[in-house]
Amino acid sequence: MTATKIMLDEDELPRRWYNVMADLPAPPPPVLHPGTLEPVGPQDLAPLFPAALIEQEVTRERYVDIPDEVLEVYRLWRPSPLYRAHRLEKALGTPAKIFYKYEGVSPAGSHKPNTAVPQAYYNAAAGIRRLTTETGAGQWGTALAFAGAQFGLDVEIWQVRASYDQKPYRKMMIETFGGTIHPSPSDRTEAGRRVLAADPGSPGSLGIAISEAVEVAAGRADTNYALGSVLNHVLLHQTVIGEEALLQLAKAGVAPDLIVGCTGGGSNFAGLAFPFLREKLQGRMAPVIRAVEPAACPSLTKGVYAYDFGDTAGMTPLMKMHTLGHDFIPDPIHAGGLRYHGMAPLVSHVYELGLIEAVAKTQQECFEAGVRFARTEGIIPAPEPTHALAACVEEALRCKETGEPKVILTALCGHGHLDLPAYGRFLAGQMQDRELSAEAVAAATAALPRVPA
Ligand SMILES: *Cc1c(COP(=O)(O)O)cnc(C)c1O
Repeated sequence: MTATKIMLDEDELPRRWYNVMADLPAPPPPVLHPGTLEPVGPQDLAPLFPAALIEQEVTRERYVDIPDEVLEVYRLWRPSPLYRAHRLEKALGTPAKIFYKYEGVSPAGSHKPNTAVPQAYYNAAAGIRRLTTETGAGQWGTALAFAGAQFGLDVEIWQVRASYDQKPYRKMMIETFGGTIHPSPSDRTEAGRRVLAADPGSPGSLGIAISEAVEVAAGRADTNYALGSVLNHVLLHQTVIGEEALLQLAKAGVAPDLIVGCTGGGSNFAGLAFPFLREKLQGRMAPVIRAVEPAACPSLTKGVYAYDFGDTAGMTPLMKMHTLGHDFIPDPIHAGGLRYHGMAPLVSHVYELGLIEAVAKTQQECFEAGVRFARTEGIIPAPEPTHALAACVEEALRCKETGEPKVILTALCGHGHLDLPAYGRFLAGQMQDRELSAEAVAAATAALPRVPA
């Protein structure tokens, strides 16, 4: 029987991140300047990001070395454990073997510090004093506040109003790590004031919060902006998850048949999946790779593949991605980290290339899987990875029908200790499913920026 907990030694911690761009059959479409519609250059991004991260955004090198200063902080919780879900398998009566890579052991309780730490490091090394950012459920804000504390940076955070009200403990964590936090939309920025004028009770969205954080960073030389998902350099940093999981599955003597991850902006999914995609493209294994998104915010399965802004106010460059439209405000589902109108351009690109699949799940099915997982494996998952778990359970039950002993790998990308009110609502039978109608998608994507093909 495979061990329950597959660990790596500290000296097995990967020393480089993997850049999937080096191995793709076609390069992703360029990011465009919204005014000129020409590809953006490093000078366009310089007001917001340090040169090292801009370089990582565009590099075609297969590997990027992880700086020693970053490895030193990673060692607080990395390598993270890989578990075999023996108890969940038994409860489902499935012949499938389910493995989960647990990122909830990090200081923030999610995968987000994997990129927050290098982003803080490169900014501090470039002489930046302050970082601004947005946060949805609060995971990214917590991670960046922690990372800022490691490298002496002030961190100022705009949290989506709906989550700010639902999850008060995130604010306390952020302030404990030394960060500053405001609900978004706020009256501190042009972008926020514009939204509040139109809708004083706005629940906010990641797109609005990004506009606020970008506006403040763009206006000050000592201040940069940090994004917790979507961008190429963020996905790059997260590949430490998949590189470790590859070593761990090799120790267990198995190769995955299916890799499943939840997708908000796409970073934990890509972080787990891209190193395996490399192995697949190079012919060493052949896993099916499946993204799982919420039915209330289904950018891959129902959105359009088009150039769009990353934020609501239209201040970012245009990225080609699966999007529901930059002014789309998703229903306030409990998986706040999955309420983003777009998708990482790299994840969108590999989806267009047919290298990955996508499915959407409603939240009650997800919480059912989350509760089942908690009762068997003993970890209460964050609402976001319950989407991946619901897809794992679905596949494991399919294996029960067919008798196939598939190896399933997923990222349990965060714990749900600060999301317990959502579990309370589910257990009390008060949770509603929210699915986006075709009309709502058409309305949301009607105002996409026009970019000639
Ligand atoms: C932020 C977050 C997500 C969504 O972001 P991705 O970039 O899609 O990974 C998912 N799960 C958790 C626990 C998060 O904190």
